[in-house]
Amino acid sequence: MSTLLDGKATSNQIKEELTEQVAELTSAGKRPPHLAAVLVGNDGASLTYVGSKVRSCQKIGFESTLIQLDDTITQDELLATIDKLNKDNSLDGFIVQLPLPKHINEEVVLDAINPKKDVDGFHPTNFGKMALGMETFIPATPFGIMELLKRYALDISGKHAVVIGRSHIVGRPMSILLSNKGNPGNATVTLTHSRTQNLAEITKEADIVVSALGVPNFLTADMVKEGAIIIDVGITRVADEQHPKGYVIVGDVHFEEVSKKASYITPVPGGVGPMTIAMLLQNTMLAYTRNAS
Ligand code: NAD
Repeated sequence: MSTLLDGKATSNQIKEELTEQVAELTSAGKRPPHLAAVLVGNDGASLTYVGSKVRSCQKIGFESTLIQLDDTITQDELLATIDKLNKDNSLDGFIVQLPLPKHINEEVVLDAINPKKDVDGFHPTNFGKMALGMETFIPATPFGIMELLKRYALDISGKHAVVIGRSHIVGRPMSILLSNKGNPGNATVTLTHSRTQNLAEITKEADIVVSALGVPNFLTADMVKEGAIIIDVGITRVADEQHPKGYVIVGDVHFEEVSKKASYITPVPGGVGPMTIAMLLQNTMLAYTRNAS
């Protein structure tokens, strides 16, 4: 049986550390860090994510601002909002919740964010710095996974890591961070995606698998090696009438099967999800500190 990588407990610990730092700042007469979130439209999952980001800010003593915009907003109007946030000195960082409506070009929007306030780490400047191993804002989900590996003292140096999925927000940055010099890091990485052939042959060779494709129960026991570390990024809402919400959240990993074979495994929910929020808060504290100095 495997050991659970408890993202909920670890994220709570990080939030407690941040709460203490905020208390120190405010008792020294300084303002707390301030994060803003821009949400365009009414997508259910996005509303849930942004809501929990805002609530987490409040819990640890950060200031937070939610800017909710109608999905009919033009790209230029959104860019004008971003320009205002870039210039607002009372704000340390802000995020634009993705996905955006189809008529808005995500690349143009992310490029308009001041890299110093880009606490999601999606701006090309910050992404480039991450790839070069320079100090920057690391995208929250991969950052959360690296932090989880670090806090559980899992040594991945020289090990074979297989990442499933090559999105700009999870798979691609994950593959870079795992291979970068550092601890955790120094892994030999294979980045796989929808065009990969014989995926199971590759995952079976992995000492660590990070699954970020968004297909429920995709990674089954026959695809993993005995003793592997398994990180499940997937979050898919699957209809379930038994549940009060009408759906349940299901990960990419067939937990029941794979947990019998893995050495360490993240649950869904309670694994990577809460770590993502904790690292966004951590990045906001980092932005505060950098902007203040
Ligand atoms: P995405 O849809 O942008 O990318 C999915 C990737 O999976 C693509 O690169 C694609 O090539 C790859 N893929 C699809 N089918 C495949 C297959 N059969 N074999 C191999 N690769 C395949 O997804 P994303 O934004 O990276 O999100 C992935 C999952 O992670 C989703 O379920 C999403 O909800 C979840 N997610 C969770 C968090 C979190 O905090 N836990 C954060 C972001 C995303």
